[in-house]
Amino acid sequence: MTFPPLREDLVGLAPYGAPQLDVPVQLNVNENPYPPSPEVVADIAASVAAVAGSLNRYPDREFGELRAALADYLNRDGGVGITPRQVWAANGSNEVMLHLLQAFGGPGRTAVSFAPTYSMYPEYARDTTTRWVEGRRESDFSLDLDRARELVERERPTVVLLPSPNNPTGTALPLDAVSALCEAAGDGLVVVDEAYAEFRRSGTPSALELLPSTRNLVVSRTMSKAFAFAGARLGYLAAAPEICDAVRVVRLPYHLSAVTQAAALAALRHADELLARVQELRSERDATAAWLAAQGLEVAQSDANFVLFGRYSDRHAVWQGLLDHGVLIREVGPSGWLRVSIGTAEEMGAFRHALTALGTPVR
Ligand code: PMP
Repeated sequence: MTFPPLREDLVGLAPYGAPQLDVPVQLNVNENPYPPSPEVVADIAASVAAVAGSLNRYPDREFGELRAALADYLNRDGGVGITPRQVWAANGSNEVMLHLLQAFGGPGRTAVSFAPTYSMYPEYARDTTTRWVEGRRESDFSLDLDRARELVERERPTVVLLPSPNNPTGTALPLDAVSALCEAAGDGLVVVDEAYAEFRRSGTPSALELLPSTRNLVVSRTMSKAFAFAGARLGYLAAAPEICDAVRVVRLPYHLSAVTQAAALAALRHADELLARVQELRSERDATAAWLAAQGLEVAQSDANFVLFGRYSDRHAVWQGLLDHGVLIREVGPSGWLRVSIGTAEEMGAFRHALTALGTPVR
């Protein structure tokens, strides 16, 4: 054994993460470009100040007030009668989903997703020693339902991870696909990761609608994207109460700090204002997709706050060329494709200008 005595399967692996570079136009990690307004900042600061005097005590381990506020919010965005006992939260939806794999994955168990899919999923599986099986999406990034169902029935996973809208492609799943996979999974859980749900196009439903009739469905959400709250780290899920209770077994005690709870409650009081920019970002997304298509590029249909486009014979050269113009996007997804997050109108102007200046040939 070498020192430090790292698990053999982790030797040589690099920690996950996009480059954090200090450039003028940052369109690489699907953040919301709009910072909270001075009123929201003042309310968050006052709420944090109010708990600061009791930081010698541990926070509410069950975060009851926050669960109630999140349930209220979900019931305004597609949820039907969701109660606080049906809500769980953690430090980002990454931690929420890690909790799910800790509770429902593990040695001898299998987790399934369909590539291209969110690149953290195999890491949750690896870290919890869960077997990882990846099916494939079609060339338009949709799911072939028969093949997907077949895979789930064959592999009998305890957790199926379905990002919708998907990262990095932006593709949303129809609800009949979610229902069919919930049925195919039997007693296994189907996690619909709706990190980008608020950006979905009108007419695209949320899987929250299926919760009352589907006992093995988990819908994961985050305040990082639409709420413009990535720095605070607050992700959450809605599911049957027994699923939330089971997750409580694996969470670390007091995992959500009093500061996090206070800040998130303050932000939820301003949900309408924080979400007001979502509409603008959706329009900017559609305009960006249309512009990219008009350049002769392939563009994946997006219900999220980013667009996947290509295909380039040397995508790294395009990524680097944009960076040289001060525009940071993400080299991610299937070979030849690049992903741009939707920023302000000004930032998207800078992106279009830089891409035009490159004039890079498409494959
Ligand atoms: N799911 C998907 C599909 C994502 O793209 C991301 C963030 N990039 C997350 C979950 C995790 O976000 P957070 O931990 O900030 O909630």
